[in-house]
Amino acid sequence: MTIGKKTYTLKGIPTSPGLAFGTTRVVYSWEQSVGERVLDRAQVASEIIRLDEAINETLLEINRLKKMAGEKVGGPAARIFDTQLMIVSDQAFLKKVKDQIRSSRRNAEFAYSMLVEKSVIPLKKSKDVYMRQMVYEIEAVSKKVVNQLRGHSEIRDGAYPPDTIVVAQNFTAAEILNLYDRKVRAFVTSEGSSTSHMALVARSLLIPTIVAAPNAHLRVKTGDRIIVDGDTGEVTVNPPDDVWNELLKKKASLKALPLTKLKKLPDFPPRTKDNVKIYLAANINLPGPADRILPKHNVGIGLYRTEFLYLQKGSFPTEEEQFELYDYVAGTYSPQSVVIRTFDLGSDKYYKNDRFGQEKNPALGWRGIRSALDMPKLFRSQIRAILRASHRGNVKILLPMVTDISEVRKAANLIKRTMVGLRKEHCKFDSHIKIGIMIEVPSAALNSDQLAEKVDFFSIGSNDLTQYTLAVDRDNRKLLKAFNPMHPAVIKLYKFCIDAARQYSIPVNICGEISGDILAIPLLIGMGMTLLSMNPTKLHNACNLISRIRYEDARDLADNVLRAKTLKEVESKLLEFNMSI
Ligand code: PEP
Ligand code: MG
Repeated sequence: MTIGKKTYTLKGIPTSPGLAFGTTRVVYSWEQSVGERVLDRAQVASEIIRLDEAINETLLEINRLKKMAGEKVGGPAARIFDTQLMIVSDQAFLKKVKDQIRSSRRNAEFAYSMLVEKSVIPLKKSKDVYMRQMVYEIEAVSKKVVNQLRGHSEIRDGAYPPDTIVVAQNFTAAEILNLYDRKVRAFVTSEGSSTSHMALVARSLLIPTIVAAPNAHLRVKTGDRIIVDGDTGEVTVNPPDDVWNELLKKKASLKALPLTKLKKLPDFPPRTKDNVKIYLAANINLPGPADRILPKHNVGIGLYRTEFLYLQKGSFPTEEEQFELYDYVAGTYSPQSVVIRTFDLGSDKYYKNDRFGQEKNPALGWRGIRSALDMPKLFRSQIRAILRASHRGNVKILLPMVTDISEVRKAANLIKRTMVGLRKEHCKFDSHIKIGIMIEVPSAALNSDQLAEKVDFFSIGSNDLTQYTLAVDRDNRKLLKAFNPMHPAVIKLYKFCIDAARQYSIPVNICGEISGDILAIPLLIGMGMTLLSMNPTKLHNACNLISRIRYEDARDLADNVLRAKTLKEVESKLLEFNMSI
């Protein structure tokens, strides 16, 4: 019970979904009280040896963390630790520390921390997000070195008490992995963005996370009781018992922790009341714990957003790095299909000051397949990696942001030429690999008959298709109400694609956020979508809903909705249907 504590709410950016109830632990990550000791002249040499030993131990520790991360969330996430390995091995910096120990005759932890503090001052002031992110990595390494000098390692930290929710100014990706291991229930940060490394890791670990809740680490106190809603970005601090209990009762049954829900996924694929199988799949951004659960339920991947690999690394992964990941994913999900989308970079998906983020109208700019075709070497290396991973026969290629048939022809030629090269190298691959395109630009939807003749499947990206059809920025908070993938104009475009696909007997998947929307699912099924690919956290409710509807009724609903003239009409028809089941 929270007697006498003020109840209030904080609002941040919802970054990883799920509802968590718990007790706060505010972590001041970089508070390191490093003692200062003056050394005798005779102690200097042994102090330098002590530093070298601590550096070696830190290297081992980071390598252990890297291995652990590799086992938990896959190779690419583990490579986050490469930055820390680079920092701890920086010989020029170590020379400075040793000179400092010699000249000032101070202990190693003091000299090391002091020089770290100096070195991060210009980085902290930098306008470059990447440089500021580096500060956290450098400070995380410094903490590890100091811990080693004090004779204990971070990795040995035990689990927090059950239901601990950690609040901090910000985290590094490595810290999130460490805290995950310590059984933290949810994360809240005062800073950060939903595209930071830590956000990517939190999402792939399926831990409810809210970032950029202003001054959260200063306002919330350790021991406060809080509710974190990773879907809305709302943090409720010290709720009175009745609110706490009511929310627990009302929401927990609807939104159990995503991972728990995934484990309890009903029979898959789900069937409607009149026994029609409905094919669902998962959207995945990075390897994560869902990879251990989804294959057990025969769930495949309808959209693998490979650009997150780039965003995580800050540069293009090599062919080998990509092959390692794609092969791991294809193997893990085999025999279910894995649809790998080639890099969809540009617009809001760019890294620090790279070439994708320097445009006046990035959403209308050099993005998706356009940039891929302009960088044939990089594109080829991705296609080679995907093809090499296709040897089991369950991999499909998906091309993003296609606007015109000429792009499909160019990409298909590049894929064909890549196959010739692989054959010469006697490399095994699926020579009948299916190649599909995203339909997320109105020109592609309007020309879907032309495109259907040339590709093996469509995947409708309702997020971008809505943005471009309604001229509504999908990321603009002010336009939240105007952005609606159920707008009659957008629904008409879905219909165009379905009709064109039928004409050429190719499947139509849909993989935008609408696929997991309970109101829209009956409409999408009734319209004839072949497969609905959604965030894994939405699968549970989607399966339950499907078991409560009749396929025939969904078809009638679709006919009815297609006649609607306004968004309001669409919404009321969908709502009415939902209430009737
Ligand atoms: C979409 O646009 O609907 C889609 C699935 O792609 P993304 O969200 O990655 O742009
Ligand atoms: Mg898109």
